Amino acid sequence: MPSARTLAIVIRSVEVFESSSIVTVFTRELGKAAALAKGARRLKSPFEGGLDLLSVSDIVLLPRASEALDLLTESAPVERFDTLRRDLAALYAGFHIAQLLSDLTDVHDPHPRLFDAARVTLRRLGEGDLRIRRVARFELFCLRELGLMPSLDTCSHCGRAVVNEGDRVGFAVALGGIVCHECRPGLAQVSLLPRESVAAMRALASPGNDWRNLEEQGRALGWARETIGHVLSHILGRRPRFRPLAGV
Ligand SMILES: [Zn+2]
Repeated sequence: MPSARTLAIVIRSVEVFESSSIVTVFTRELGKAAALAKGARRLKSPFEGGLDLLSVSDIVLLPRASEALDLLTESAPVERFDTLRRDLAALYAGFHIAQLLSDLTDVHDPHPRLFDAARVTLRRLGEGDLRIRRVARFELFCLRELGLMPSLDTCSHCGRAVVNEGDRVGFAVALGGIVCHECRPGLAQVSLLPRESVAAMRALASPGNDWRNLEEQGRALGWARETIGHVLSHILGRRPRFRPLAGV
């Protein structure tokens, strides 16, 4: 593969040898990549400080087809998110976003819209009153973009549209979403969610502005956040580490 220039978010960085680093980047054009940055820690580094964790850089990557690391040949800083250096909860939220990008996406599988969503979310994490909702919105966007979105409108068991089924809606994490009242009795591990919390998840997953009107400390949002957390834990096989530290 020829070398490629792309925007990238640095999601992990490990020091290796005397002066080099192995960086994991989520790039806009090539998806996730693990690359060797030779001499990245030298005083006169060829990367101009363009390899800071959770920042956006303009990089040139030489992809390798095999299991070998890609090679990072150039990097220049494009955007730093200064809030993350001042606000610990925002920093943890940033780590959580990096972890989702790292653990849920495949190497060299590009998702430009997910890159853009991550960049915008990182930029806005300083808005404390909206942070929890922004992170939840990113989580749902990420799940949708990767084909992992829980079903919120049709029964995840029989496919029937679920409408006006009462105050509580069945939700089966293992099946991937809500279940209708006919399927519910025969299924194991179905939790019952207040109808408002399913509506809150729909608002968080929708493009409009309804998500802004959800109460930050409200019960509906609380249940929605908890349910998204269960879905992420089920997919990852463990609880997301930084999510509780970000207050999400
Ligand atoms: Zn059903």
